[in-house]
Amino acid sequence: MLTDLANFIDCSPLCSTHEHTEYEHYYRASKPDVLTHLFDNYVIHDLQSAGAKESQLAALIDPSNDDVEHRFRSIQPYWDKIQQTGYADAVMLTAKRLFEIDELTAERIMAAQRASHFTGKEDERLTLLKGIGGLDHVQIDTNSRPFPPEMIGQDFFLYDLNMFDFAAGNPDFDLIESQLGVEVTSLEALESAIGTLFTISAPYAVAVKTQHAYARTLKWSPHSNEDAARSFEKIRQVGAKTSEADRLCLGDWCLSRIAAMCALHNLPLKIHTGYFAKNNFMPSENLRAGNLDALIKANPSTRFVLMHIAYPHSDELIALAKHYTNVSIDMCWAWSINPLHAGDFLRRYLHAAPKNKLFIFGGDAHLPAASVGYSLQCRKWFGRTLQKEISDDLMTEDQAIALARFFMTENPFDYYDLLNKKSALRSATMESIAASGHERAFGAPPKGIRDSGKA
Ligand SMILES: [Zn+2]
Repeated sequence: MLTDLANFIDCSPLCSTHEHTEYEHYYRASKPDVLTHLFDNYVIHDLQSAGAKESQLAALIDPSNDDVEHRFRSIQPYWDKIQQTGYADAVMLTAKRLFEIDELTAERIMAAQRASHFTGKEDERLTLLKGIGGLDHVQIDTNSRPFPPEMIGQDFFLYDLNMFDFAAGNPDFDLIESQLGVEVTSLEALESAIGTLFTISAPYAVAVKTQHAYARTLKWSPHSNEDAARSFEKIRQVGAKTSEADRLCLGDWCLSRIAAMCALHNLPLKIHTGYFAKNNFMPSENLRAGNLDALIKANPSTRFVLMHIAYPHSDELIALAKHYTNVSIDMCWAWSINPLHAGDFLRRYLHAAPKNKLFIFGGDAHLPAASVGYSLQCRKWFGRTLQKEISDDLMTEDQAIALARFFMTENPFDYYDLLNKKSALRSATMESIAASGHERAFGAPPKGIRDSGKA
């Protein structure tokens, strides 16, 4: 018997403020099967951590091999070892909702494969995310530029402008030059290119995103134009092989420009903090959100969204949101990394910092079936967390329901100005975009998001 609170959370729309939802064309071309729907997501990394070989995991999520029994049995010993993890919890929620599977066995998976309707059909992404996941919209980081033309004329798939390469101090010059039709041979030209990217992209973007923590420390310090110009020259000549000092110098300089452009165009700047996807390369100290304090302080008009609750350095992040007027936190990915930690984090946050600076959900997934599982997982653990607040006499059920509504939709709508953003995207056409001189913001993606080569 569900409580009113659990019922409200189950039945209400939920905003996803961070996903990497694969483009329609590449999703359909991937011809997903039951095992890709269930396992082609973060759970792979727990399986690898438990001892599964990369070759077994690659086979597990390869739908071109229709022997689902063998593919599953090969990793079953490792699946047994991760049953209690958050990633496995989300897999089971997906299995139950999409395939009516209570326990994963080879027999059940074979039966589900025979009966599955989710084979990569047209608009299947939308059916899964909106119809089954109950999501209001998804905010997608494609890990790249330009924007896909499919974002025009609809308001469910919203997009971040990705500036990872700039912040990493390794701008993708070929991409910048081909997208903008200019040569970038000086620091001034690079600054101009950043300005142009924002001018043509900002009316359609919901935010700006960088995950440079995967390529460098988050520690930031200011650099003069002279120093940045010297680093630019070296990087332009030898690319990524240049010294770390040069990449940090140019990356920090670019971050200053990006932060200023975010303030000018009123776009939040989303920055990956904390835990790494995949396995065997995580420099923990580099990932602390506190490394960003100088950047945050130097850009008081820029709204920063620090992502993934900086797991495991989460209390430091609460302190940043409590202290800095321009810092918000996104719990994207946090429920699946560790649902107990995420629930505790939410309670510690609520008793420390303003509620309007917290976003509670992003599945952070390529495949819509995974986002469905992660959204169910968020609803489950978010509900349990608020129920604990009620049990401890810290709020009433009515207050908890109001808070749930606030976090699930009201706050993201307010912070990301979603009524206007959605309206602008819905009404945009290729003609209106060309008339505004913004057509270079869009281009057919040459490869899928999962093959972008970026974490
Ligand atoms: Zn992500």
